[in-house]
Amino acid sequence: MTATIAYLDYNATAPIRETAAAAALEAMRIGGNPSSVHRLGRLARRAIDAARRAVAGLVQAKPEEVVFTSGGTEANAMALGGSLGRRRVVSAIEHDSILALPHEERVPVSSDGVVNMAALEGFLDAVPAGTTLVSVMLANNETGVIQPVADIARLAHRHGALVHCDAVQAAGKMAIDFNALDVDLMSLSAHKMGGPQGVGALIVRTGVSVTAGRVGGGQERGLRAGTENLSGIAGFGVAAEEARTEVDAWSRVATLRDDLEARLFAIQPDLPVFGRGAPRLANTTCFAMPGVKRETQVIAFDLAGVAVSAGAACSSGKVSASHVLRAMGVPAEVSSAAIRVSLGLATGAEEIDRLIAVWAEIRRRAVAVAAAHEPAA
Ligand code: PLP
Repeated sequence: MTATIAYLDYNATAPIRETAAAAALEAMRIGGNPSSVHRLGRLARRAIDAARRAVAGLVQAKPEEVVFTSGGTEANAMALGGSLGRRRVVSAIEHDSILALPHEERVPVSSDGVVNMAALEGFLDAVPAGTTLVSVMLANNETGVIQPVADIARLAHRHGALVHCDAVQAAGKMAIDFNALDVDLMSLSAHKMGGPQGVGALIVRTGVSVTAGRVGGGQERGLRAGTENLSGIAGFGVAAEEARTEVDAWSRVATLRDDLEARLFAIQPDLPVFGRGAPRLANTTCFAMPGVKRETQVIAFDLAGVAVSAGAACSSGKVSASHVLRAMGVPAEVSSAAIRVSLGLATGAEEIDRLIAVWAEIRRRAVAVAAAHEPAA
């Protein structure tokens, strides 16, 4: 990231922490295979064990419950694919890495983007107890809306269901207690908290059995075979350790985000801001400028040195219709004009000033074009 870019796309990825990059490089230089018994192997194993403790500590799980993966996508696939034989009930606003997997039911959400508990209960009532896996994310990547996961887990467990939670966006941006949430499986990703890309974890509650994502050398308790991504895991450990100590600092970011929204409202009082009526991550805001396509806005921001995103464009650079906003009942012409702005702990007031200046200019031009096309009175 160059210093001249106002980076406001933390939900796509957070810039790597220097400390995490240093730890990754140091681990890469160890040179041993963590499965080897000699000294270099033991050093590599020690680095993985330390990272496992740090990642467990971030979500208050046990180190032995952490299974390292290649990221959130693989953790999600392992959770849903590893629960064979169960009906998979997922919320309608899950990340594509969940929705693209086979599932039997989609639970609707309210206009604020919160899972409809009555509908979930209806689904669970309609099937025999103990036959279901429920997957609901902790915080949505597009709107930041936080789901009532502990309530969902309580309801699902009453029906003998297993509960998976995609905590990829929430982890590192809010305090998470795996036991208090009482979920069985939880997905994490390092690069959303300043760790390296391509590494993540599935937290598997002690006593919960999932089938192996990959078989072979028996690494990761036999659940995910293959020589571990030592450098990535070491970097993840450092990022998780630091993120754990920073949780309180996000309240400053919430103030910055709220101030940003207030300034946008001052310019456009009827600005649609999605999920604003629900609890949200401190760093996320998703709003629309009806009449101006979101890809046009993103390009205009980019040309002005401001990095924002069109919804969940972190998946492949593509800009497709937002299934999240559709599930919230947002009309297509409005959601096609929605952008996501996501802040980080390093975001300062100057970056927000730049965003607002560019947004106001895009809007001024759009209003001028619309006025030029008005039929003369
Ligand atoms: N789940 C959510 C909610 C996400 O936002 C993302 C990434 O954007 C993922 C899963 C996928 O994580 P990864 O990029 O580590 O595969």
